Amino acid sequence: MKKLTKQIVVNYHAFMAEKFDVKLIFRKGDIPQEVYDVFPSLNQFCNETITVDTAFLNNYAITIPNPFGKTLIYLPWVAGVVTRVSLYNQVRRLAHECQHAVQIKHEGDTHFAASYLGSPAMRANYESLAMHPELEIHFWYYGKPATAKTLSSMANKLKAYRCGADDIAVTEKHLVAYNKIVARGSVSSEAGKAAIGWLEERV
Ligand SMILES: [Zn+2]
Repeated sequence: MKKLTKQIVVNYHAFMAEKFDVKLIFRKGDIPQEVYDVFPSLNQFCNETITVDTAFLNNYAITIPNPFGKTLIYLPWVAGVVTRVSLYNQVRRLAHECQHAVQIKHEGDTHFAASYLGSPAMRANYESLAMHPELEIHFWYYGKPATAKTLSSMANKLKAYRCGADDIAVTEKHLVAYNKIVARGSVSSEAGKAAIGWLEERV
């Protein structure tokens, strides 16, 4: 297992923010108003898909398309500070969100938002692709691929995104297949490549 330090994780957040041209919003106390300011009413916008309430924002990171500036990434932790989220999970989860930033850049803010929120199947697809860097970082960190149990729990996270059993099953199959590629040492996601390339030189 690799050894992460607070300082490395702080610097990693700065590196990833710069690399993927995103603004990170850390959760210190209350949910920052900025999270709600981007869309006139994020809650209303997400109402049919994810309920962005305090419970959600206590536990989930969220990447917010922002037609007025940099893509925002809200993180329910402060970089390098371990309360409920370990240093490893900060690293892994930030890479996941940065992969969403890549998706947003490829598709444009409005198109991404409409597709992501438009159907559970599309949402599951975006999420499973954003899990690629997580599997890559898992392999880098532990020196072995994620277990079937981990893959299953990753896929089941999509329940919170109002994806149904069929979308979750498809996602789990996808993760099992991609994990086999990762187990051969492949790192092909943009966020995984950037993260592991940077970390390799420092950890
Ligand atoms: Zn995601």
